[in-house]
Amino acid sequence: MGAYTKSERASRVHVVVVGAGPGGTTAAALLARRGFRVTVVEKEPCIGGRNAELRLGDYRFDVGPTFLMMKFLLDGIFTETGRRSEDYLSFVRLDPMYELDFGDVSLFPSSRPEAMAAEIERVFPGQSAGFARFMERERVRFLRMYPCLQKDYCSPTAFLAPIFLRALPRLSLGKSLYDVLSGYFEPERLRLSFTFQSKYLGMSPWSCPGAFAIISFIEYAYGVYHVQGGLCKIAEALAKVAEEEGADIRLNAPVKKLLLRGREVRGVELEDGSQLAADAVVINADFAHAMTHLVEPGVLKKYSPAKLAAREYSCSTFMLYLGLDKSYDLAHHRIVFARDYHRNLTDIAVNKTLSDDFSFYVRNATVTDPGLAPEGHAAIYVLVPVPNNTSRIDWAAETPRMRERVLDALAARTPMKDIRDHIRQEAIIAPNDWEEQRGVFLGATFNLAHRLSQMLYLRPHNRFEELDGCYLVGGGTHPGSGLPTIYESGRISANLLSRAFGVPFEPPPPLPV
Ligand SMILES: Cc1cc2nc3c(=O)[nH]c(=O)nc-3n(C[C@H](O)[C@H](O)[C@H](O)COP(=O)(O)OP(=O)(O)OC[C@H]3O[C@@H](n4cnc5c(N)ncnc54)[C@H](O)[C@@H]3O)c2cc1C
Repeated sequence: MGAYTKSERASRVHVVVVGAGPGGTTAAALLARRGFRVTVVEKEPCIGGRNAELRLGDYRFDVGPTFLMMKFLLDGIFTETGRRSEDYLSFVRLDPMYELDFGDVSLFPSSRPEAMAAEIERVFPGQSAGFARFMERERVRFLRMYPCLQKDYCSPTAFLAPIFLRALPRLSLGKSLYDVLSGYFEPERLRLSFTFQSKYLGMSPWSCPGAFAIISFIEYAYGVYHVQGGLCKIAEALAKVAEEEGADIRLNAPVKKLLLRGREVRGVELEDGSQLAADAVVINADFAHAMTHLVEPGVLKKYSPAKLAAREYSCSTFMLYLGLDKSYDLAHHRIVFARDYHRNLTDIAVNKTLSDDFSFYVRNATVTDPGLAPEGHAAIYVLVPVPNNTSRIDWAAETPRMRERVLDALAARTPMKDIRDHIRQEAIIAPNDWEEQRGVFLGATFNLAHRLSQMLYLRPHNRFEELDGCYLVGGGTHPGSGLPTIYESGRISANLLSRAFGVPFEPPPPLPV
């Protein structure tokens, strides 16, 4: 590291990054490290986007991400900047990873194989052999598939690359995630325990492609992490690295539009009327929102507003953040399944209605990280998957009713029976807030749906195909939504940009087996 010198060539290239979410801060850190002149413009007064911190009095929450998976990828990004992630962040591997609450019984999955086999036997006697088969087969799928996700798909010839052809038979084409897991387990609830992870992509296991069985494999193989202070600390740390490497990060600096000469991006204009010239622009703002708001009408063809509206998007989330003056005996992560889970997911994705009986996720991070609330108090985060804004639900009217329903559900299905008596601080983000206040297209919190027809070459390219000098990072581009893949998008775009300007870079390190 000591011998590292920044590229002279890169120092003549000015890159503007629009947005300081996980994708933008990753790209900024890598590009600044390689010597590019980097300016990050973020519309909000803080770093992080959906991965920002939310403070309510003395209580601290993450706005969005709470599960860190594939920590080794984040470590790799820090390594590429000549640093150790541990010098910036304090990680806690969670064991058990989470509680899965089915009403009459709970499963506590562990990423220690023997512990998990024993836990399966406790709740589903005789079923642990399926887990061994799952780990064995999904490991092969993961090792074949994941390197493909680390490539860019700017050209259809990427499909002819030997690594992609080797992975092809492992894609379980035509099978849903639920179909794939049914091959390992008989009991419905055990299948759900290994397929609910499609909700991380805002999808249902019955429509999510079977290849995403790698997500639950990744949890079991590499574990689930918390970061002390909240996962928001990751985006803040990446921004710090970028600044240490010379990047200029400007908060409260909303971009109004991209400056174009023909199809070439020449910079950005901010809301205050000032302009920043750039040799390249990296867009981290929500893809569909950015393309409908930051580009003059008539310029885009493939991603025109009408074509964007016709795409398929993930679900949305109704969020409740509660500062309580009491703590409860509650797991760090608890996923509570609707009694009829299939019906609940059909309501979200197909009927676009709110279910009477809904699934939800509760995070009680203070059990691991007491500094997030005053002593003896709790900072409770509740996420309810709900339809995105194609539902036309009137959230202004629905939000107070939904709040009551969520509190009822918490009282009925968690130890927080008296929760209403202990609320000291509170905030809500409903689907209309995601769209109107936070610039998330249709309030679809996990971006474009992860159907095969919207993946790889068929997802917006990291080197954006409609505009020259424009690169995409974040959940709306390849490889997809979720922190690990978003860090990959930052790396892929930084590498494409480096290649375009003749700046050397290292390929990603091999996966830890
Ligand atoms: C509720 C929720 C829970 C999630 N949980 C997990 C989880 O547990 N694990 C996981 O891996 N992933 C999770 N995700 C998914 C994903 O990791 C996060 O959404 C992630 O923050 C997305 O990062 P991003 O880089 O795509 O964009 P964002 O975080 O959306 O960042 C984009 C940035 O661009 C800025 N911006 C937008 N427009 C402009 C403009 N005009 N000018 C300047 N700046 C602009 C925004 O303010 C924002 O800071 C979750 C997402 C949500 C919403």
